Amino acid sequence: MSHAQTAAVDYTAEVFIDGRFEPPASDWLPVLDKGSGAAFGRYGNASPAQVDRAVAAAGRAQPAWADIDANTRCAVLRAFAAELGRRHDELIELIIRETGAMAEKAEEELEQSVNQLLNSATQLTENAGSILPPYKGGKISLSRAVPLGVIGLIVPWNYPMSLAMRALAPGLAYGNAVVLKPAELTPIAGGQVLAEAARAAGIPEGVFAVLPGDGPGTGSALYRHPGLDLIHFTGSFDVGREITDFAVRAGKPVVTELGGDNAFVVLDDADIDQAASCAVWSSLWYQGQTCISAGRHLVHREVADAFTEAVVERVRKLRVGDPLRDEVDLGPVISAVQRARFHDGLVEPSIAAGAKVAVGGTYDGQFYQPTVLTDVTPQMPVFREETFGPVMPITVVDSEAEALELVNRHRTLMNSVFTGDPLRGLAFAERVTCNEVHVNDGYARHGGEGQLAAFTRRQWVGLQTAPVSYPAWAQGS
Ligand code: NAD
Repeated sequence: MSHAQTAAVDYTAEVFIDGRFEPPASDWLPVLDKGSGAAFGRYGNASPAQVDRAVAAAGRAQPAWADIDANTRCAVLRAFAAELGRRHDELIELIIRETGAMAEKAEEELEQSVNQLLNSATQLTENAGSILPPYKGGKISLSRAVPLGVIGLIVPWNYPMSLAMRALAPGLAYGNAVVLKPAELTPIAGGQVLAEAARAAGIPEGVFAVLPGDGPGTGSALYRHPGLDLIHFTGSFDVGREITDFAVRAGKPVVTELGGDNAFVVLDDADIDQAASCAVWSSLWYQGQTCISAGRHLVHREVADAFTEAVVERVRKLRVGDPLRDEVDLGPVISAVQRARFHDGLVEPSIAAGAKVAVGGTYDGQFYQPTVLTDVTPQMPVFREETFGPVMPITVVDSEAEALELVNRHRTLMNSVFTGDPLRGLAFAERVTCNEVHVNDGYARHGGEGQLAAFTRRQWVGLQTAPVSYPAWAQGS
């Protein structure tokens, strides 16, 4: 289904510091509609001086924000969610344009963003720590969660709004200030809109800042800023490593959410129809540009032909085009640079090394035909690296043990295993060395209580309610 088109809106992604919008230090640069290729907005690079002012304002504003009572902070976050909800239709179209997404992905992203705010708003009123068992009479020992201070948040383009919100909502909820740098390809849904909604919701001046800009300039100035108390980064492994190196040397807390070379395993007793549908969905949802996309398929020899046939049959029917204007199943990939990265860098060399194109392998600009590659070996680039594009490499394995070894050979974020025996799937999952594994599916929910630990620090407080008998030498006798 193509998305009903409304009147185009031209957007400006400004720098947002201390509750006010201002122009960037650089010239304006275009924000492209990824389907049409036309500019529909503009942004610029926030300068190091603007980064400095944003972090300073955040540092000044944070203590008062943390002191606001929980119910009031909860109400502000709910108002933030309501603001996004109020702009629903406009924001869906914006996300489609700015990220090249199908309407379903845009709906998912907005819904996740709103829910993240509502969940964080609730969580902040529920749990602020715990009481520890006393170790002496008249002692109350509290373990309480206190805000970290100022969080520097750097986010990629694939889910610009919800990946920002993943840290922004709990970060604000637990009394922190947040300085956000959205990706340069998506500064509107990932930055401007959030600043507007936060301001309308009554987030106090300075508590939230948005600094559009590139990675090496604005992003680097942000993560290196001494005023940050936590660096929160989502993006590629290489940049994550650069930031972690810096954080370790600076002795600064850092959270990184990086990419992985995720595997989709089909065992010999799997329901092939279900496995093929899930594989196509998991590899091709949003053109394969999610951190949990299935990037390589490890299929038992006994079912490999049937699985490949079922996958190819499904992929052949998929239509690629502009999700805003055409009746399509897949949109464009985010940029020509990304297409060149996975096509020229991974697909072509793998074909040269013997991989066969069962379907796809061609493109027109950013419209890349979903591609199934067979005869893929573990030595090929398309197997060894995260594809982050609409490509399904299939590798045949002879045993469950071989599949497991190949899954664990690479850094992964999310893996799936398909089998007719859920207990066999569970046993397989237990031996996979990553944090997320699915038996007969490919997606799960995150969040929950871990948020409190991630966006606060622990403080142990001892309150003595009865006099203590200190040693005589301490009493001066
Ligand atoms: P990227 O690392 O190139 O960019 C991510 C962000 O970092 C952008 O805002 C960019 O401007 C900024 N950046 C780039 N270089 C920088 C530098 N030197 N200093 C500071 N900031 C810098 O990643 P990308 O190509 O935009 O995103 C795709 C990657 O992100 C994939 O590997 C994907 O798996 C990963 N990802 C991970 C998750 C997760 O939750 N684990 C979610 C989405 C995407």
